[in-house]
Amino acid sequence: MSQVVVVSVLAPLPKPLHYLVPESLVDTVLVGCRVRVPLGRRFAVGVVLENLDIDDVAKLKPVAEILDSMPLLQFDLLTFIRRASAYYAFPLGLALKTALPAGLGSLTAAPKVKHVRVYSRTSTQLTVRGSAQKQILQWIEARGPICLDELRQQFPTPYVVLQRLEALDLIRCEQQESQRDPFVGIEAVADQDWSLNEEQAEAVEQISLAVTDDQFKPFLLHGVTGSGKTEVYLQSIRTVLAGEKQALVLVPEIALTPQLVGRFRSRFEQQHVRVGVLHSGMSAAERFDMWRAIVRNEVDIVIGARSAVFAPLARLGIIVVDEEHDDSYKQSEGFRYQGRDLALMRGQMEGVPVVLGSATPSLGSWQRSQQQLLSPLSLTERVGKRPLPEVTLVDMKNAEVEGGLSEELRDAITATLEQQQQCLLLLNRRGYSPFLLCGDCGASYRCPNCEITLTWHRKVGQLRCHYCDYHQPPADECPQCGGAAMDPEGMGTERLAEELQLLYPEARIERMDRDTTSAKNAQQVLVGRMEQRDVDILVGTQMIAKGHDFAGVTLVGVVDTDAALNFPDFRSAERSFSLLAQVAGRAGRAELPGRVVVQTYSVDNPVLQCAIDHDYLRFAKQELPLRQLLFYPPFGYLVNLVLSGLDRYEVERAAELLVGALGLQAKICGDIEVLGPAPCPLFRLRNRYRMQILLKAQQRTALRRLLLYAPQWKSDLGVRLTLVVDVDPVDMM
Ligand code: ADP
Ligand code: ZN
Repeated sequence: MSQVVVVSVLAPLPKPLHYLVPESLVDTVLVGCRVRVPLGRRFAVGVVLENLDIDDVAKLKPVAEILDSMPLLQFDLLTFIRRASAYYAFPLGLALKTALPAGLGSLTAAPKVKHVRVYSRTSTQLTVRGSAQKQILQWIEARGPICLDELRQQFPTPYVVLQRLEALDLIRCEQQESQRDPFVGIEAVADQDWSLNEEQAEAVEQISLAVTDDQFKPFLLHGVTGSGKTEVYLQSIRTVLAGEKQALVLVPEIALTPQLVGRFRSRFEQQHVRVGVLHSGMSAAERFDMWRAIVRNEVDIVIGARSAVFAPLARLGIIVVDEEHDDSYKQSEGFRYQGRDLALMRGQMEGVPVVLGSATPSLGSWQRSQQQLLSPLSLTERVGKRPLPEVTLVDMKNAEVEGGLSEELRDAITATLEQQQQCLLLLNRRGYSPFLLCGDCGASYRCPNCEITLTWHRKVGQLRCHYCDYHQPPADECPQCGGAAMDPEGMGTERLAEELQLLYPEARIERMDRDTTSAKNAQQVLVGRMEQRDVDILVGTQMIAKGHDFAGVTLVGVVDTDAALNFPDFRSAERSFSLLAQVAGRAGRAELPGRVVVQTYSVDNPVLQCAIDHDYLRFAKQELPLRQLLFYPPFGYLVNLVLSGLDRYEVERAAELLVGALGLQAKICGDIEVLGPAPCPLFRLRNRYRMQILLKAQQRTALRRLLLYAPQWKSDLGVRLTLVVDVDPVDMM
């Protein structure tokens, strides 16, 4: 008998592979560790799934090296990732690679464990002479174990003295794994447990009961904006901690919610509860450190973006998914998982409650709460009975517009500035203008790689494609007719900020979009300046709608609603309602009442009518039957197949062939509609032609059966074409 391991190589392979464990490594290869293994003529990284004892090992290659001294993934977590990979019909090796901190799947770029020297006092009693020695010894005595860097902040050159003290056996030095500080830029804010109002108390009680019961129970906490949902999470987590368990809190994008992290830290860290974060703003090394700290059981609460759903917490007691409706829970490339849905899956597997919270629940979650598949909890009022802001629609057809702003909105801004309050203006389009247009021949610049016009970014003097990296400066004349230079057409955030500065020369205006927040911590700095009231008007894309709690904001303006409402997608109404309700929710959260002005060309639109009244229930009642009629989610299930390649005809032909094969397979699997093939809305993207086939079924099981063929579809295509399988698609561009 020889020891053999089953290894999932972190590569797009259809199956795990077997490797022989060499004599020297027997007993040290643990399930959940990474190993270096031969693959073809090269080496690759894999994760050990299983240990086996086997007789016939003649053909097996040996494991080359063990890369981790402790398993990075415990058994439960591995099982969870295996299920997730099956659900999304995505290769296990690549799913594992996505779940692990970045870089760990590569042999060359993997972040290294960093060690630091930590000094502590021994029991030796001895009087020292030199004053430097005395001071440092006293410091170490007073502070307990302390690392070299911290000592350096107190004493300019402590090293020689430390060596001397060590030689005298007065202190001991140990190498410890360092933790790079993940909280740079996230301040702890002064905060306290509030005494809860009745609805909050009821919610906390129900969640806490489920926590003590140690059972899977999913909740939908529907609470209007500013109703104190975060407070419910915080106080429910107290029960989790009291039971020596851990909490996992998912948020859409951590950079957008430094306030939330700050509240968790200040609330818990004084009581020695250890709060950790995991998000994409951290470097690979920082994430690796945090991951290992969690594995070592040094963290009690993990707050993170969608990928934190894979955090290696071994004593999980609750999962909270804040703003559960947010589309950023869905990964849009590679392993296309939905963080919220996986949170429910993990909660079920580990037997812990899962709390989904939102002011505007996704219609799927809402429907499930109506069927009691999620236990409904609701907060119907804002904290302190503050009123929700009054919403006015401005009909742009008859409006007197200046700088893209109607007279009503301009007056409202003037009044707000006079009261020294702050304004938020939403325009969900970055750049200066969506395109440059030739006044003579109507030409505009297009991306050579994608089927899209180039956006004009005036400050940097570049035309940019928002889908690929392509950019170019504009020419001095129209490249098509040789006429005068092209003019900006339409308005993005950059232009709006500029127009505002002309209208309100005294106002301090800032912009928050992907262009202004790409630098590390830029987002936090901007949020900080809003809180300090160093900004009078903040212009931004949907980023400004998310979760912020700015006390000074009394006016919210929505500059354009029509683009979102008319977007050709079955979810456009849901998205628009949610965006409007969320951004409106930023107004009037403190003492002064808030106001919202929405500019639109379609005042009668039923979605807007519901948004004016803050009436989510009416919106859901209105929208759900439309979905039901066409068996769209939540009344049916979708899988989007996207085929792409460099040659247009090859892609089109392969799509026809695939549909042919699918027709037969679908019949065997159950009641599945195969729609297409059709060109994707973005037919050409990053140089590739794209066709899509939509699979639709009323039963999830039928689709799951069909997806078992996915590896075969992929291998039938050959190497020149790519097939992406998107289960529960959110964006079908
Ligand atoms: P939501 O997440 O629902 O938008 P928050 O949890 O951010 O709302 O709460 C809004 C504000 O109200 C926060 O500043 C919070 O500290 C405060 N708050 C929450 N609950 C209470 C309470 N019971 N009493 C007083 N203030 C509260
Ligand atoms: Zn492009």
